[in-house]
Amino acid sequence: MMLIDSHCHLDAAEFQGQQPELIKLAVAAGVQTIVVPAVDRDSFARVSALAESPHCVYALGIHPMYIMHAQADDLRALEQLLAQADPRLVAIGEIGLDYFVPSLDRDKQHEFFVAQLKLAQRYDLPVILHVRQAIDDVLKYLRRHPVRGGIAHAFNGSMQQAEQLMAMGFKLGFGGACTYTRASKIRKLGAELPLDSIVLETDAPDIPPSWLENGEYNRPQELLKIADVIAQLRGILVSQVAEITTKNVCEVLPKLAKLYTPAKVLL
Ligand SMILES: [Zn+2]
Repeated sequence: MMLIDSHCHLDAAEFQGQQPELIKLAVAAGVQTIVVPAVDRDSFARVSALAESPHCVYALGIHPMYIMHAQADDLRALEQLLAQADPRLVAIGEIGLDYFVPSLDRDKQHEFFVAQLKLAQRYDLPVILHVRQAIDDVLKYLRRHPVRGGIAHAFNGSMQQAEQLMAMGFKLGFGGACTYTRASKIRKLGAELPLDSIVLETDAPDIPPSWLENGEYNRPQELLKIADVIAQLRGILVSQVAEITTKNVCEVLPKLAKLYTPAKVLL
């Protein structure tokens, strides 16, 4: 079994000092690779340092919830790092729009989202999207500034919106949310979307799956059980879910695919 956690904030303060142990536990649970997205300029150095582990790769970007403190100079810093073309830097992310939090300045969100889509075009990189109650605007900006695709993390839209994202080269991220029986809309999507369009993620330390109680942090090792939930929803084997979702991540993150030599895949 080989799984990829396509979205994990392994650099989060909650995990301070525990990363080597968490990576070990994840690998023991079949999670071969963890994609660690940045959220702001301060996190750029942290996520790239984590990617010194052979089990981690990273993305750089400015997250809409961190836009308030972001400055134009942060975009220049981002571009300088993109220009270095580190093989372990596999995407721009996480970026997007968040209309759920009313205090977030929408104009500034739009400005940073568009600027980062333009960087994705310039450096031919996929993007990792954060979208909350803003999917129509995200689709609008993607149409104006087409990128090579990527991942819509923690997807929570309609089947029709899923199809529009798929047509633009995106895979849809499924994680802890689909483990709750009351999440009927997300579970229906997890059951009915083409398996070729699904990638798995934990979003750890956030979105703890249903079996983590008492405010426990989510961790990348939970991905195997999340894969099992998707397998049960679809009535297929978890090994099939692992195989296809891993292939899907490699398809949208070609620089990650390049890191897998045939010999490594056999391990
Ligand atoms: Zn995230």
